[in-house]
Formats: sequence, structure tokens, C-alpha cells
Amino acid sequence: MTARVEELRAGLARVEARIAGACARAGRDRDEVTLVVVTKRFPASDVEILADLGVRHIGENKDQEAASKVAALTVRDRLTVHFVGQLQTNKAGSVARYADVVHSVDRPRLVAALDRGADAAGRRLDVLLQVGLDDGAPGRGGAAPADVAGLADLVGSSGHLTLRGVMAVAPLGADPALAFARLREVAAGLRAAHPEATWVSAGMSGDLEAAVAAGATHLRVGTAILGSRPSHG
Ligand SMILES: *Cc1c(COP(=O)(O)O)cnc(C)c1O
Repeated sequence: MTARVEELRAGLARVEARIAGACARAGRDRDEVTLVVVTKRFPASDVEILADLGVRHIGENKDQEAASKVAALTVRDRLTVHFVGQLQTNKAGSVARYADVVHSVDRPRLVAALDRGADAAGRRLDVLLQVGLDDGAPGRGGAAPADVAGLADLVGSSGHLTLRGVMAVAPLGADPALAFARLREVAAGLRAAHPEATWVSAGMSGDLEAAVAAGATHLRVGTAILGSRPSHG
């Protein structure tokens, strides 16, 4: 356990140094960027170590795993829980019970299901619209950039969701700088109609520098802090 504390402390320090360097190069303040540590497939004990090391935001991507992990946390009240994975409509009610922020809203039915779920749970949820930057390649989630405005209006008129901004994953094999520049344009378009929607969730272990350079406000970093993920099963 102590060894794991030292591993996570070192991983966090390495990533913090990368973020600080990227902010300095981009002329941005470090406090403009929120680090979300993606703890998927790692145990609740790692989340508790991270909380003791000062982490305030964790990310999860599978409802079943996240629901039981979050329920087991002794440090839940010190954390903001972000759901970052593709979300089936029939899991929205469950996610609405424990997540604070959902990054992966990409279709009207999911907006409706999350709004109902938040209502039933007596909670409000912060919502990001996931933008697909791979021009229609199927399977990775994300709304087409042209559909973002309509989705934003739906979230805006919902009773229990707060629109915060956009999220994207750089397409495999693409230049992340180009992908995140595209996301930045979509985010600017969204702010024209929804000025309060200022969050841009972009950047993972491999491309966080490009995301900071392109104006990301939230980074979702897993393996660079926690090490390679245990496989499922
Ligand atoms: C797993 C995951 C991450 C973290 O990826 P790493 O490469 O481990 O940093 C970020 N975003 C999403 C949506 C993820 O599913």
C-alpha cells in the first residue's frame, strides 16, 4: 500500500509538471485547467490515496463499475465525480445518482434520460456535449459539430441539467493539435448562444500538452498517473 502511495504521488507529480510546462508555454495560468484523474479499472483504494494526495476530480467510464466504486468511497464528499464514457440511455438513471458531471452527452434521448434521472435522484448534473471529431467514423460517440447547437438548446431548456461546455477525444491517428483546434471552434460557436458554457474537456495522457495549447479547461488523465490499466474481468 505504501508503495502504491509513492507510485501515485510520483505519477501525479510528473503530470503536474507536464501541465505546468504546457500552461507556461501557452501563457495560461495553471488554475485555468482542472485535472480529472481517470480511475477506471483501478480500485476504490487508489481513489482514496489520490484524494489524500490532493486530487479533487476523478473520472469513470463504465456505469456498473463506477456505481459500486463511488458507493464504496470514504472520501466521496471531497471529490467531484465525472462520467466520461459512452453512456447508454438505460444507464442514465444510475449515472445521475452518483455523477456530478457527465462529459459524454451526444444525443437528444440521452439529454432526456439524464434530466429524468437527475429529477428522480433530486440532483442537478453538469453536462458537457461530446463532439465527434472523426467526421462520421462510427462507434466512438460524439455528436456531429452541426448538431451541437440543437443539443445545447435541449440541455438549456431541461429542468435538472446545467450546460457547461464541450468534450472530445482526439481521433486515433489524427494530429491532436488539429482536432483540438476544431473543438475550440465548436466551443466558441456554442458560447455565442450559451455564454456560460465555458468548459472544454480535452486531452488525455498522450496529448494533454496539445489540449492545453488549444484552450482546454479540463484534462482527463489516467495511465500517466496510475500506470497501465488492469484488463477487464
Ligand atoms: C480512459 C479515458 C481517458 C484517460 O485516458 P489515458 O490515456 O489513460 O489518460 C480519458 N478520456 C476518456 C473518455 C477515457 O475513456
